[in-house]
Amino acid sequence: MKTIGLMGGMSWESTVGYYRNINEGVKSALGGLHSGQIVMHSVDFEPIKQLQHQGDWAGTATILAKAAQSIQAAGADFLVICTNTMHIVAPEIEAAIDIPILHIADATAEVLLAEGVGTVGLLGTAFTMEEDFYKGRLAEKFGLKVVTPNAADRKIVHDVIYQELCLGSFQDAARQEYVRIIDDLAAQGAEAVILGCTEIGMLVSQADTKVMLCDTTDIHAAMAVEYALTTK
Ligand code: GLU
Repeated sequence: MKTIGLMGGMSWESTVGYYRNINEGVKSALGGLHSGQIVMHSVDFEPIKQLQHQGDWAGTATILAKAAQSIQAAGADFLVICTNTMHIVAPEIEAAIDIPILHIADATAEVLLAEGVGTVGLLGTAFTMEEDFYKGRLAEKFGLKVVTPNAADRKIVHDVIYQELCLGSFQDAARQEYVRIIDDLAAQGAEAVILGCTEIGMLVSQADTKVMLCDTTDIHAAMAVEYALTTK
């Protein structure tokens, strides 16, 4: 089994989900007392969040590249960045280490293509919904058509992430707004909706809507288990 490197803490609420999913995935594949071989570096999220909102992506890249180097030095065979948003600096992180990164958008796109989805809705932080690093990758590398909410709804989705979900608050009012926005994306032609922020799956679940949901935490953790167990 390969050693999984987790870059966590963004937020820690969702990193808990990665840790649980990976250990459960290894246990269900291998049985007995098997569990994941994991090294984790969990960052302090407040300074990262401030740099993000100042647009200082170079500042975030410096912190995360250092974290990635410590994960590599601790023996990880590959890296899992436990947030969609911070894949915005995946190229800078990749340049600082020798081990591969399992990209969260690639993992998600592979699931969507296997399901025959061509048009997909995307929920996440404003950075993920508006910048090109995520939407562009889905479109250019995988041929997916991506639809996002209108500006007012993008603000609702973004604010709920930083003001509630990343603080461990999961409220019915936010759930209802998210379900309304998911239904709107389906009305715009989305055949599935990506929960493209690693906390959203703790707010909304498949039982809340008929629209097919792709939870990036579940998908990314499952890909990490498969990679750890099957690559030589
Ligand atoms: N966990 C979130 C994501 O998947 C948002 C927090 C962050 O800014 O990293 O994008």
